Amino acid sequence: MNAKETKEKLFYNKKNGFLKVDDVTYKAAFDYCEEYKNFLNLVKTEREAAKTAIKLAEDKGFTAFDSKKAYKAGDKVYFNNRGKTVAFVVFGSESLEKGVNITAAHIDSPRLDLKPNPLYEDTDLALFKTHYYGGIRKYQWTAVPLALHGVFVKRDGEVVNVTIGEKEDEPCFVVNDLLPHLAAEQSKRPLSEGIKGEELNILIGSKPFNNDEESELIKLNILNILFEKYGVTEEDFLSAELEAVPAAKARDLGFDRSMIGSYGQDDRVCAYPALTAILSVENPQKTAVAILTDKEEIGSDGNTGLNSDFLSHVIHDICKVGGVDETVCLRASKCLSADVNAGMDPTFKEPFEKQNASLLNYGVVVTKYTGARGKAGTSDASAEYVAFVRNMLDKAGIVWQTGELGKVDVGGGGTVAMYIANLGVDVVDLGVPVLSMHSPFETTAKLDVYMCYKAMYEFMK
Ligand code: MN
Ligand code: MN
Repeated sequence: MNAKETKEKLFYNKKNGFLKVDDVTYKAAFDYCEEYKNFLNLVKTEREAAKTAIKLAEDKGFTAFDSKKAYKAGDKVYFNNRGKTVAFVVFGSESLEKGVNITAAHIDSPRLDLKPNPLYEDTDLALFKTHYYGGIRKYQWTAVPLALHGVFVKRDGEVVNVTIGEKEDEPCFVVNDLLPHLAAEQSKRPLSEGIKGEELNILIGSKPFNNDEESELIKLNILNILFEKYGVTEEDFLSAELEAVPAAKARDLGFDRSMIGSYGQDDRVCAYPALTAILSVENPQKTAVAILTDKEEIGSDGNTGLNSDFLSHVIHDICKVGGVDETVCLRASKCLSADVNAGMDPTFKEPFEKQNASLLNYGVVVTKYTGARGKAGTSDASAEYVAFVRNMLDKAGIVWQTGELGKVDVGGGGTVAMYIANLGVDVVDLGVPVLSMHSPFETTAKLDVYMCYKAMYEFMK
């Protein structure tokens, strides 16, 4: 053999996905992403994602799990955890003793949450105080139109839903920034403090209430509008969850329309594939489980996060009706933890290690480990399990690549993988490469999104 042939035989040949797929697949990816964009525009919070996912699942025959019922192969159920985390299950023909195939993605995204007592008036303007949720670069969140999503829950438990700022004819909101002319001092701050947490105040009004000679008339006018629109008073903010998110819609990106720009792709770019995959699963051999979880962006703690017992309770419940020991089931189970990785950015290559960074259009990314400082805070999948996933992807003709989150000791991060691995399940991260992750407008490539769907389906089918 000559060098060329020997190379072909021995080298790991990393290639752009467009060199690997045919026109039919390419078209399918674009069509799939039309639906994905609709989903991004429809849901911007975990509550909205959970609600929409359940609705889509019910249309496909899923029903709320009932511990008094017996289930057979092919039956479809869901577990709704407080309207923020959902698990979907399709029962397989094989005993649960052989384990289940789990996909897990998160449906919360970085944003600005209103504080419990947010409303104030200053300099004849009304504003909301916020406390940011998740790892944001604060300077990116100024001077972009924001919408408000969430709920007021009144003393008696009545829930008042709020979504304002998404439609063209609705008002939006904004966090203001200083003009360059007067920003000389602010510009000397390090970028991480360019905008400080307590400067993320949202402008919401400027018109006084009537012509009376009272104080705080602008604040009063806002409260009057809120009372008329939602029937709430200032005290009702104390038991509310109101989240400011970018008001922009998901768009095709690039002259070639090969990419998508949108808020909230981390991790709806994996949650939507996991959801649509389990909705397509019919009569699997192994029981399929897809979890869309809350709280990942703040560390997965809390009763709607995956560091809670929610998943093991789901497994417990389905095993109980099948008369199977849940530990036997968990030990034999496999999981794809579906979360994004950082695609290498041509403008900011420095923090990436070229040989192991993921690239846009190179397919779905398998991330063996995340973590930081010498792999701390990761489950680090075994070679055996990565081999299993590798074989599955190659056999199904799915375009995929490996990825590592930046150079060693440059930074790091985590996913829900380790919490599932800690239950005794084999887990590896698999997801979509993203540019500008956690920004108000994240970038992904359509081919990668579709390959993520194909991988999720192949794993659970
Ligand atoms: Mn994520
Ligand atoms: Mn994230």
